Amino acid sequence: MRRWVFADQLGPHFVDGNQPVLLIESRAVFRRRRFHRQKAHLVLSALRHRARELGERAIFLQGETYAAALDTVGEPVEVCAPTSFAARRLVERRPDVTMLPERGFVTSAADFARWVTGRGRRRLLLEDFYRDARRRLGVLMDGDEPAGGAWNYDHDNREPPPRTDRLPVPEPWRAHEDDVDAEVRADLDRWERDDGITFVGADGPRWAPATADEAAAALRHFVATRLATFGRWEDAMLAGDPFMSHSLLSPALNLGLLNPLECVRAAEAAYREGHAPLASVEGFVRQIMGWRDYVWHLYWHFGPDYRHANALDAHAPVPDWLWGLDADAVTARCLRGVLADLRARGWVHHIPRLMVLGNWALQRGVDPAELTAWFHASFVDGYDWVMLPNVVGMSQHADGGRMATKPYAAGGAYVDRMSDYCGECAYDPKVRVGPHACPFTAGYWAFLARNAERLRGNHRMRQPLAGMTRLRDLDAVVAQEERRGTAPP
Ligand SMILES: Cc1cc2nc3c(=O)[nH]c(=O)nc-3n(C[C@H](O)[C@H](O)[C@H](O)COP(=O)(O)OP(=O)(O)OC[C@H]3O[C@@H](n4cnc5c(N)ncnc54)[C@H](O)[C@@H]3O)c2cc1C
Ligand code: SF4
Repeated sequence: MRRWVFADQLGPHFVDGNQPVLLIESRAVFRRRRFHRQKAHLVLSALRHRARELGERAIFLQGETYAAALDTVGEPVEVCAPTSFAARRLVERRPDVTMLPERGFVTSAADFARWVTGRGRRRLLLEDFYRDARRRLGVLMDGDEPAGGAWNYDHDNREPPPRTDRLPVPEPWRAHEDDVDAEVRADLDRWERDDGITFVGADGPRWAPATADEAAAALRHFVATRLATFGRWEDAMLAGDPFMSHSLLSPALNLGLLNPLECVRAAEAAYREGHAPLASVEGFVRQIMGWRDYVWHLYWHFGPDYRHANALDAHAPVPDWLWGLDADAVTARCLRGVLADLRARGWVHHIPRLMVLGNWALQRGVDPAELTAWFHASFVDGYDWVMLPNVVGMSQHADGGRMATKPYAAGGAYVDRMSDYCGECAYDPKVRVGPHACPFTAGYWAFLARNAERLRGNHRMRQPLAGMTRLRDLDAVVAQEERRGTAPP
């Protein structure tokens, strides 16, 4: 039967043998959200490259909606389970489409369900999920024991940045654009000019892989040149080095161009062959078969209503300057830099996402569902399944702690320790009140004051809440932050 592949199922592992394929490019998707221009470019480029690769094996339909395109196919098709609630609903409604089990993740839905059942009433902890998967698949295992004798090397990882402008590591892999990219760019220009479709962010050379071959090259490059230093500076930020030693593989993974288990095996081989230290390799493996898979399964486990969770009663709208990625409106050096990086390429690594962008919104009580929509539109690697748990749960604590045991709120001292942003900033991370009051430091205390009652039962918040009660200027901090609100800091 013909295999329909969605635009995030573009790798060879989403089809079997030489079967015929159906690809659909839907323009309506770009009318529903104002995406980052480079995200639209990447998705269309990857889809069109796949169509070219498959040649006569594929029917490639370009139209307004999936449903209208499917109506013209004239034969039944099958599809690997799509990655969002909305897409699965669409597929389930169609008698001419058969849905197969999902692909593209390390742990299957059945293995995840077995793990959940085995937990009984215990929390669904990432650490336990990850260890279970490593045992089951024999990844970084020496017999029954974890390689090196420990499961977790976090204490060796996560150093503050060195005192340099850039990390001493080779540049990440870069794509070379071709005629498909030129055609995509011309189409996007035309849609903007004639068709009422608008984008945010800068256009720029495509930097992420658009084919499985490019993705394999990017993985090889990362493993050979950057994996060894991945763990050490995993949480650090440098104003002049947005990439640090990260892999930049999330866009390729989320387009389905890379098989995550192959990434894991490639990293393990580097360790076994003595090319990368265990702490870095374990840190990377944990991200892929731990975090990525965990987030994927929680998306389905928590269900469609999770997107409306709002345990901290946060209702501030996402401000226009954030929707527009208007870094120039911002004075706070960390937020300004991160927003400029996001505008430039639709990507920043996990600490700017969590501890700068997410932290700022959490402190100001931005509506979690609207913030999820903002992240989804602004990031090249953003998809519903990965955004919901990461933003609603992990970053905004809107699920009341189902995913993260405490809110990821932090003051300027954290940013100061883990980056070089604060030195040249107009604000001072130690100052709470007045014109130099760091918005993250003051925002942190205002956040605690606003949510003190809601967080009182959380034993991990006991110490910060006690610290808050000792602040003599708390009322002034709260009044100041109410005044500053969600204006660009
Ligand atoms: C608020 C917030 C929003 C996020 N939104 C996304 C998103 O839309 N898409 C996305 O892929 N990741 C998202 N992440 C997770 C993480 O920030 C990115 O996967 C990572 O920064 C991508 O860069 P990289 O490929 O260099 O990652 P690396 O640091 O090199 O990590 C390797 C891989 O691990 C996986 N990974 C690590 N953490 C996570 C996680 N929490 N969730 C899912 N995958 C993970 C990614 O596939 C990533 O490519 C988000 C995190 C936060 C805190
Ligand atoms: S002082 Fe505050 S606003 Fe300025 S860079 Fe540091 S954390 Fe960011």
